[in-house]
Amino acid sequence: MTNRLEGKVAVITGGASGIGETSARLFVKHGAKVVIADLQDKLGQAVCESIGSPEVISYVHCDVTNDTDVQNAVDTAVSKYGKLDIMFGNAGIPGKGDTSILATDYEDYKKVFDVNVFGMFLCAKHAARVMIPAKKGSIIFTSSVASVVYWDIPHAYATSKTAVVGFTKNLCVELGKHGIRVNCISPFAIATPMMMTGFKDTGKEKVEELVHEIANLKETIPETNDIAEAALFLASDGSKYVSGQNLVIDGGYSVT
Ligand code: NAD
Repeated sequence: MTNRLEGKVAVITGGASGIGETSARLFVKHGAKVVIADLQDKLGQAVCESIGSPEVISYVHCDVTNDTDVQNAVDTAVSKYGKLDIMFGNAGIPGKGDTSILATDYEDYKKVFDVNVFGMFLCAKHAARVMIPAKKGSIIFTSSVASVVYWDIPHAYATSKTAVVGFTKNLCVELGKHGIRVNCISPFAIATPMMMTGFKDTGKEKVEELVHEIANLKETIPETNDIAEAALFLASDGSKYVSGQNLVIDGGYSVT
């Protein structure tokens, strides 16, 4: 099926790389107009150029922890493409430290929450500002499989991603009254720059080895497109009765 997002307009944070970039490609392929909002300006602009013309995709510099930047990303979607139907709050950081509470640094913990939780709050707030009068919209956040099972990663990351699930539930009830759906997606380990270098300097092979070792679907390597397809579903009218959910894309790992 093609053109599942025909006529829709999306903002994707963290769209210069990994899951966000693949989602931007897929959304445009399905007829959406997209604003990529990221910190990596050169990369983000190059990604946009490789996807399509400014009529269908634009880049804005946006730190999701900055209220004005997020407001500008939403306003860019409205001024360039006329409205906002989809907010994909996807930008995230791993944080430093190891899995020991004693090695966990308070400042780093706050930084992780700033991006992974408060950044999602700002995305939702500015999206709601334009979606409430329109009486429709789909807000999607990227959480993590660490929101549902123990994972050998820093506390701040796992806790921040769990907070995103709670926020999703709360917001879905408030915004449901206005016809706006709110869901999150929880990916398994995928070899993106964040996963390959963010937690430990592992590289693609190590990430895939780990997946192979612990996964339920052992022969299947998860890719960014698996998450982009889930985002496409939640962004499209095919999910018009889905809200408040945490869509875990882990090949069944969390139930083993
Ligand atoms: P990635 O490194 O490829 O992309 C992350 C993007 O977010 C980058 O382009 C980066 O510049 C951007 N970003 C970081 N901080 C930002 C900020 N303050 N403002 C705006 N943009 C910012 O990594 P990815 O794996 O594609 O990560 C996307 C999301 O998926 C993250 O929320 C991450 O936590 C989540 N996730 C990833 C995995 C995985 O295994 N890759 C698993 C579970 C969850």
